[in-house]
Amino acid sequence: MNKPQSWEARADAYSLYGFTDLPSVASRGAVVLTHGEGPYVVDVNGRRYLDANSGLWNMVAGFDHKGLAEAAKAQYDRFPGYHAFFGRLSDQTVMLSEKLVEVSPFERGKVFYTNSGSEANDTMVKMLWFLHASEGKPERRKILTRWNAYHGVTVISASMTGKPYNEVFGLPLPGFIHLTCPHYWRYGTEGETEEQFTARLARELEDTILREGPDTIAGFFAEPVQGAGGVIPPSQGYFQAVLPILRKYGIPMIADEVITGFGRTGNTWGCLTYDFMPDAIISSKNLTAGLFPMGAVILGPDLTDRLQAAIDRIEEFPHGFTASGHPVGCAIALKAIDVVMNEGLAENVKRLAPRLEAGLRAIMDRSDHIGELRGVGFMWALEAVRDKATKTPFDSSLSVSERIANACTDLGLICRPLGQSIVLCPPFILTEAQMDEIFDKLERALKKVFAEVA
Ligand code: PMP
Repeated sequence: MNKPQSWEARADAYSLYGFTDLPSVASRGAVVLTHGEGPYVVDVNGRRYLDANSGLWNMVAGFDHKGLAEAAKAQYDRFPGYHAFFGRLSDQTVMLSEKLVEVSPFERGKVFYTNSGSEANDTMVKMLWFLHASEGKPERRKILTRWNAYHGVTVISASMTGKPYNEVFGLPLPGFIHLTCPHYWRYGTEGETEEQFTARLARELEDTILREGPDTIAGFFAEPVQGAGGVIPPSQGYFQAVLPILRKYGIPMIADEVITGFGRTGNTWGCLTYDFMPDAIISSKNLTAGLFPMGAVILGPDLTDRLQAAIDRIEEFPHGFTASGHPVGCAIALKAIDVVMNEGLAENVKRLAPRLEAGLRAIMDRSDHIGELRGVGFMWALEAVRDKATKTPFDSSLSVSERIANACTDLGLICRPLGQSIVLCPPFILTEAQMDEIFDKLERALKKVFAEVA
């Protein structure tokens, strides 16, 4: 067999693409990247793209942060790998757990490590099943999440994800229940105020708990802002309305902060931005600024005590991954937390978020086909509509958001199509000039595509 020559052909010949719009790749070829410079990535042909997606929301310090690479290298030189089984673990792992509890909103807690956000959600579900069974409630197994939630792709976390695409796998598994997505603009009914909408969703939660039986529910998981569902902040008062109901029925509330953690919303945690206290936090992505595959479950005081008691009863927690608490991952995470919190990155998000919002709002106001701007901090979505007044979407066969993303790529800007929205979640190091580059290229792409489809 002759080897195909171009990078694009070689990628096509040997790589399966996940979560990829294949017609776009078929007509345009894959973009094969070699390196990065600040928030830019560079392809094999030398083309630079401003990655307004931070890779996959995670490369918050950009693509060439020297201090992070040095921390990784130093740890590879010192102690390049270990596990966390059998009571043996690296000093970096000990230090990271201390740090994570210190920067968490909890007054005390404990941490468990995974290789990804999906595995962290799976781990949390297994922890809940384990502790409920240990407390004499083995029937507490059902998991509540919301439509448009994204919690991952492993069998449990995909069952938690509220997206119809998982039907091709025969998922969700039984016992994973999806509640209404708290997106008022799209799901509020005619004449319903935002307050009434939130109250309706809270009623739905309580009705669901009562219908299923409170003693059959293991936990409720929610992203503070739904990320891969299309950047959907909660409707006003949402968490304040659902938390008392969960407390009333003894249902733990888990905040999936894989995207929203470590500064993305303008505070260290999304739960601080939306003013609620979960029972545990799921972290990944920003945790290592994208330099190492790693996830963490951070338990608050109540779950820490209950899980510890359950573990003590059988003298073991039979769960863990070979690379749980990997010393290099932990060293990078320690450095990443320091970089984000102490080198002005979190500050930059806070300072520039209003400018980002204002620029995107101006683009929306100038366009006849952007129906909604939504987001917070450095995570935003613009939703394309055929008709602004009626919120009528474009026909899905037009692939409007994919066309916008492709037009952006042609201009040297990477942003992400999600449903009918175009999503921007730039690295935290973004400058004002780079932000202006985003505005300029995005608006040109929108104009081009809307002229084609309107
Ligand atoms: N939870 C959320 C909120 C996420 O956004 C993601 C990834 N986009 C995950 C979980 C899954 O993380 P991973 O891809 O690392 O498994």
